Amino acid sequence: MGLKIYINGQIVPQEEAKISVFDHGLLYGDGVFEGIRAYNGKIFTLDEHLDRIYDSATAISLKIPITKAEMADAIKQTMKANNLTDSYIRLVVTRGVGKLGLDPNKCATPQIIIIADTIELYSKALYERGLDIVTVTTIRNHFSALDPKIKSLNYLNNILAKIESIQAGAGEALMLNKDGYVAECAGDNIFVFKNNVLLTPPTSAGILVGITRNVVMKLAAEMGLQVKEELMTRYDLYIADECFLTGTAAEIIPVVKIDGRTIGTGKPGKMTLDLLKRYRDLTRNGG
Ligand code: PMP
Repeated sequence: MGLKIYINGQIVPQEEAKISVFDHGLLYGDGVFEGIRAYNGKIFTLDEHLDRIYDSATAISLKIPITKAEMADAIKQTMKANNLTDSYIRLVVTRGVGKLGLDPNKCATPQIIIIADTIELYSKALYERGLDIVTVTTIRNHFSALDPKIKSLNYLNNILAKIESIQAGAGEALMLNKDGYVAECAGDNIFVFKNNVLLTPPTSAGILVGITRNVVMKLAAEMGLQVKEELMTRYDLYIADECFLTGTAAEIIPVVKIDGRTIGTGKPGKMTLDLLKRYRDLTRNGG
């Protein structure tokens, strides 16, 4: 049976959930989106995701025509219509139908789409074995061109990186910024653990400010770990004791190999697994 999709205030069968070929979201990638998870019927860090999509919209001069409270309600209704308690929710706001040509002012109304589905980004085996990642030649967008803080429908920068990692037979693509510092992966943030300090690139490295990243930094601080946002080069990753990626869909996934170098013992690290356990406990049981 197909899914029920929310589209502009209505919940309809997926076959009926359609947008125009003149929607600038399709024509130019002009729009914003979010990926949100619900566990046991509860939407995890909903306010943070709503804040981020409304901020992304503001940054591209897109006024979302409903309030955050109405959006939250629409998400809940969509989950209910699909009988989902554990769900991956895709929230999309496009510029809407317009004329050919870039001018967003020629678009009538933003389109709001909510898909409540499920997702398995990485297999269970990969969480046990750990991921092999590679540095790709595609650099992360420079913030003066398209700030990675904006979660926009323009994901080609990440897709080009992903294509490179797939061609290399790796599980994720490590992206550097234009200065050669580690930014993030194509669809996840990156952390390393070295000499009992948890390190992750600062937002100024040009990254999406991941919501999972923020939760993990908080969890680590609660565990008494020292957490630092620091510029890193590939060297810092190669010599790490542990490495992992974070994202709403991935949660926390261990990395055991980077550019052919074995990280730490070559097995998912102790601290990584401890953080993953705490993250799962927080999301599934409220901590
Ligand atoms: N970086 C990028 C480029 C992403 O697309 C994502 C989300 N998939 C993340 C990081 C992780 O962000 P979050 O923890 O908010 O899902």
